[in-house]
Formats: sequence, structure tokens, C-alpha cells
Amino acid sequence: MSRQHMASPEPLERKARPMGALMLALGLVPWAVYWVLTSQGGAAGIPIALGLSCALLAQQVWSRAYRLLDLTAFGYFLTAAAAMYGLDSTLFVDTAGPLSFTVLFLLAVISLAVRRPFSAYSARSDYPKQYWHNPDFISVHNIVTTVWAGVFFLCAIALFFTSIPAVGPLPVALVAAGFIFSLVFQSKGPAYLIQQRFRPYEWHVPVSPTSSKQQNEYDVAVVGAGIGGLSCAALLAKRGFKVLVMEQQAQVGGYCGSLMRDDFIFSTGVAGITGVWENGSVLRLLSRLGVPAEGRFVSNRTRYVYKGKDIDLPAGIPHVVDSLGDVFPEEKEGIGAFFQEATEAYYQLHEYSSDYGTPLPDHLIVRLLGEKAAARMPRNYTALYDWMNKTYRQKLDEHLGSESLKAVLSAASGQSGTSAEATPGLRALLSCIGPYLNGTYFPVGGPRAFAAMLAEVIEQHGGTVLTNYKVDRILSDRRRVRGVRCGEEIFQAHVVVANVNARTCVLQLVEANEIGGPYIDFVKGLKMSRSAFIVYAGVDEDLSSYPSFIQHVDGDYSMFINSNADRRLAPTRRSAITMVAPIGYHDFPSRDERDYDDRKRQLAALLVRKAEEIVPELSSKISVLDAATPRTLESHTSMPEGAVYGFDQSAGSRRPHFRAPIKGLYFAGASTFPGAGIESVVMSGTICANDIEGWIQSPGK
Ligand SMILES: Cc1cc2nc3c(=O)[nH]c(=O)nc-3n(C[C@H](O)[C@H](O)[C@H](O)COP(=O)(O)OP(=O)(O)OC[C@H]3O[C@@H](n4cnc5c(N)ncnc54)[C@H](O)[C@@H]3O)c2cc1C
Repeated sequence: MSRQHMASPEPLERKARPMGALMLALGLVPWAVYWVLTSQGGAAGIPIALGLSCALLAQQVWSRAYRLLDLTAFGYFLTAAAAMYGLDSTLFVDTAGPLSFTVLFLLAVISLAVRRPFSAYSARSDYPKQYWHNPDFISVHNIVTTVWAGVFFLCAIALFFTSIPAVGPLPVALVAAGFIFSLVFQSKGPAYLIQQRFRPYEWHVPVSPTSSKQQNEYDVAVVGAGIGGLSCAALLAKRGFKVLVMEQQAQVGGYCGSLMRDDFIFSTGVAGITGVWENGSVLRLLSRLGVPAEGRFVSNRTRYVYKGKDIDLPAGIPHVVDSLGDVFPEEKEGIGAFFQEATEAYYQLHEYSSDYGTPLPDHLIVRLLGEKAAARMPRNYTALYDWMNKTYRQKLDEHLGSESLKAVLSAASGQSGTSAEATPGLRALLSCIGPYLNGTYFPVGGPRAFAAMLAEVIEQHGGTVLTNYKVDRILSDRRRVRGVRCGEEIFQAHVVVANVNARTCVLQLVEANEIGGPYIDFVKGLKMSRSAFIVYAGVDEDLSSYPSFIQHVDGDYSMFINSNADRRLAPTRRSAITMVAPIGYHDFPSRDERDYDDRKRQLAALLVRKAEEIVPELSSKISVLDAATPRTLESHTSMPEGAVYGFDQSAGSRRPHFRAPIKGLYFAGASTFPGAGIESVVMSGTICANDIEGWIQSPGK
């Protein structure tokens, strides 16, 4: 197996710089001077405060990074000076306290109304620019600014209706309290908000592999033998847990399957697996299971067909940059810069979590790495946070001009089921950048061989894998999992991992009153990703001169030549092709409609004809032909709408946590973090197994 990758950069560790607190304190200085001097009746407070605010602004004019508090101070003291010296008014001296606190209150309220909380401007100096628009950062400062609004309001009211001075004990105590709150909440707030979001799922179910169990009692029951479920079960079995996996189909693998027709073996869909490099989740899984990776994967050769041009992109950034630079010479510099930044972000993603074998969702970052480390993340992983806050298209636009080049680079985002505009940066790093950096791989023997290997590991370690077992109920009592029911049989387990899609699980397998209406509504509201139409063609020609994976960018379909990845998947001098084209679930009739078979035949013929642009006269060389529709995918895996990627993966869309709001019920697979694709579901299975075990696995193992 060739593994081309760049070395990951050294761990980044930068010291916390509490500059934000200093900036906020400095911003309050002109006001404090004004309050002190005017409370003694001195008009000098105004010019001195104006001078101080000018000094503060001077540096901001230079850096063009303005802070709202300092701008307000400048405006206020300039007006006060104009009133005093121009109009001879003593208003700003006589009512200094109530007037200034009212203005500060308005600053806080207006900044909240326009979604630019003023406290965020001071805190910006603590974080890289990339983090300034992060929702958590904004949420923290919405709260901090709201508290300041309360402080200013109370001070203004107190000073309006009493004769206490602006520097009296009450205003001083309130402002000091506001300052201390800002200081504490700015560092603890992000972690606090993240933990709050996870609170409904914060249950604990102790599972002990050493306790004695009855015959039909298990530590963990896994519903579904897709790769997410199998990865989780294999890790747990290896760690000594008594594990049961139940799969409704006759074969394990779910979407990661193979199909045999005559002497041909086709992948049912999966063409290229990412995460097959030394720090990638797939190789880390194998290493944790003690399974040698050698000989298990073959590297794909990838070609993009765009506007009639073949663009071959060998894995490894230097090759990709060179190949794309040859086709788009005017963009060479931008291509280099784009990939340099993307590479940095990609390795940062794998670096912070390397001890756990997978990137982590935010609440686990807080829990496992600690609040301080979580708060430092945006500073230490600047490139990663930049990607996490943007879409793939935004990142492409930052460096590249040519729409054609962007179209080629965006083709990979189709692997997430989303356009570049809708692909979140994190997903783009895994699905779009990962393949360029470390390549994509195909399991030797076909996708099912990979799934079967995991099932074997489970059984070797005392676990049970039952096929043709359709779970029809996840049993629970007082919101606590008790086991699963399969026809007449009941299997007891205090932990159940649902690898079946979360919507199917929530709507069909658990008691509605146990999981609760709000959660059901949340899951019902999640949009599914697109489905696909798939053609399997056994071809009487040796196509080995072609790459194994061809993405036809204009035609919006892909062709995977299974036998080019693994010669044994087709008879000698013949080839096994899997073609995938995206299609909406509702664009295809249901199975009981009369034209279902006709539509299937027509669409298969159409896709084959389109593919003749790649393989001339393909239709006349096909000896075996079959196809799968969205309905096939749905009935095979119980995936709603036959969605290829589970829930919609667009930026801004939500997905369930890996824990459900019933004690002991987990999700592993494409439904949950970080999403669909073999690499991602392996990550989710790894997270789930580690969580069930209590994260006691020593780092690095
Ligand atoms: C056409 C196509 C092409 C793809 N190409 C790629 C690719 O090139 N690279 C890539 O990385 N990914 C690809 N993917 C995506 C990838 O295959 C999936 O994201 C991944 O396999 C999903 O794994 P999972 O663990 O979520 O489980 P799934 O594969 O969804 O499996 C869930 C399992 O649960 C079982 N089940 C459901 N209900 C029950 C029940 N009640 N009782 C028992 N069992 C049940 C199902 O039968 C199924 O086996 C592709 C997917 C498709 C459809």
C-alpha cells in the first residue's frame, strides 16, 4: 500500500494572552477618569477623557480594528467637549453619571440588536480573526454584553433617581462586578455553553465486562452491521465486552456492501475510502484491533472529466498542485496557497485528538481535554477554526479565481452530497481535502470484505454477529434501555447502539413516550441527503488502461471500475463497473407503481449511454446489467428516502448527538458526528466505543 502524505506539523501550543480583558479595562479608563473628575465638579474631566479616548483610538485607526466601546467614548466626549466649549453648557458635567451610563446602556443594547455585541470587540485581540464569527464566540459575548447592559441600566437608574455620585460604592461595585463577570465568562463561557447543549444527554450507564451474564444478556447490543456499528462492536469486543450485533440483512456491511452477478463482483456504491494513512481513523481502527493493514487496501487512481478534458490527480499535494497547475497555469500560485492552508487545517484536525483515534465533537473536547485546552483551541488551531467557520466554496474563493478550477475541486464535495457552497469546512477537510492529501483506497476483495473482517474480529473476541435478525423494538423502561426484541426473542443489554439511521430508530424502534415528543420532533425535522441511482455493469472488455475512479464533473455521475482496483472482481479480460448518479428520492416511482421497472431500465440505459463518453460503445460490451434505485437503498438498509449520506450534511444543518435522551441508547454511524462516509462512520463507532468504556483507554493505544 502506498501512503503518500505530508508529515503533520508539530503540535501548536501558544500561551494564553488575556489581551481582551486589558482592552476592556483600558476602554473603561476614559469613563472612569470622567466620572471621578466630574463628580468633584471639575470640568477638566471632559478634555482629559477625550484625550484618553483619542489615544486609544489612534492605535485602532492604525490597525483598522475598532472597538465599539472606544468609538462610543470618543463620540461621547467629543460631543461633551463641543457642548461645553461651543455652547457653554454644563450638562455633561452636571449629569455626567446618568447621561454616560445611559449612553453606555444604549451602546450595549444597540450592539446586541445588530448582533455585534460590543464586548466581543475587546475580546477579539485574544483570538485569531478566523474565530470572530464563530457562533460560540458570539453567544458568549451576547451574554457578556447583556450583563453589561444590565449593569449600565442599573447605574443609570440609580444615578437618575438618587444623588449618589458616579463613583459612589454602588456604581463602582456594579461596574467591578460586570468586569469580573466578563473576565470569568469569557474564559469559561464557551465550555459552559457547549456543556449546556449536551446536558439532556449527560447520563451514565456503568458497563462491566467482568460481571457475570445470562445466556441472552449482553454488555452492549448493536442494531445494524454497517461500518459504524461494526467498528464500535469490534473495539468493544476486543476490550472484553460481551457484544451482540444484529443485522436485518443476510450480509454485514450495510451501504459498504458488494454484489455478485455471474462472475462479477461489484461494490454496491463505495468506491474510495479515506482515512487510510497512519493517523487516519481507518488505519487507527485496524491497529487498535490488532489487524495488519498490509494487503487490505489498494490505492485508487482518480480522474476528473471536465469539459471534455481528462484531469488525472495522483494523491499527494505536490502532485495535485503540479497536475492542476498544468491545466490552470494562471492559478498555480493560488492552488499552492489553497492546498498549503488546507493541509495545515487537515493535520490540525487530526492532531488535537490524536490520543483518541478520532476528531471529537465539541462537548467531548471540553470534557476530555479540559476547559482550558478547549478555550485555547481557536488560538492554537487557527487554520482548522478558519475552515470550521466557513464553507468549502468560501475557502476556494479566498485563493482561486477560475470557475472551471473551482468546479473541478468542488467535484469532491459531491461525495458529501452537497454543493461546495453548502459543504461545511470540516466536512470538506475530510471528504475533499483528505483524498488529495492521502488518497482514497478500495478494500481488497470489495467493500463487503472490509465489513466481514470487522465481523470476524467481533467473533474472534467472543462477540456474536447475527444476520437475518431484524430488531423490531429497543426495549426501555423509565427512560433506561433494557435490551432489544427481535420477533419472539429478547436480548437484554443496558447499552444499545443504534447503527440504523437515527430517524428510523426514533420513529420505529423506541417507545414514543420514552424518548419524548421534543426529541421526536427534532429528528423528524432533519432533512435527508439525496439518494442515488446505481448501475452495475459487467463488461466484456479489459478496461485496465482506465483509472479505477472517474468522476464526470459535467455529467454529474461517477464510474468506479472495481476490477481496476482489484483484478479478481471480474473474469480475465472483463471488467466490473459501478456507476453512481445522484437522484432525488421522490424523482423515482415507488416499487408498487407499474412504471417502476420501466423507469429503472430507462435510467440504467441512459446512464450507460452517458458513460460512453468515457468508454466508447460501452452499451454494446455489457453482458451483465443490474441497477439499484432509491427504493432499493431504502429497503436494503432501512435508510429513510434511500439517502446516500444519511441526514443532509449542508452547512448549518444539525444532526443528533451520539447519545440519545434515553439512558444507555447510543447512535453510531452516518446519523451522528462527524457524518457519512466510511472514514466518518469509523470515527463515530470509535467515539461510541470509547464513551461506553468511559474513555479509560490509555491515550495512544
Ligand atoms: C451509492 C453510495 C456510494 C457511496 N460511496 C462512498 C464512498 O465512495 N466512500 C465512502 O467513504 N462512503 C461512501 N458512501 C457512504 C458510506 O457507504 C456510508 O456513509 C456508510 O457505509 C454508512 O455506514 P453506517 O455505519 O452509517 O451504516 P449503514 O451502512 O447505514 O448500515 C446500517 C445497517 O443497519 C441495518 N439495520 C437497519 N435497521 C435494522 C434493524 N431494525 N435491525 C437490524 N439491522 C438493521 C441495515 O440493514 C444496515 O446494514 C456511499 C454510499 C452509497 C449509498
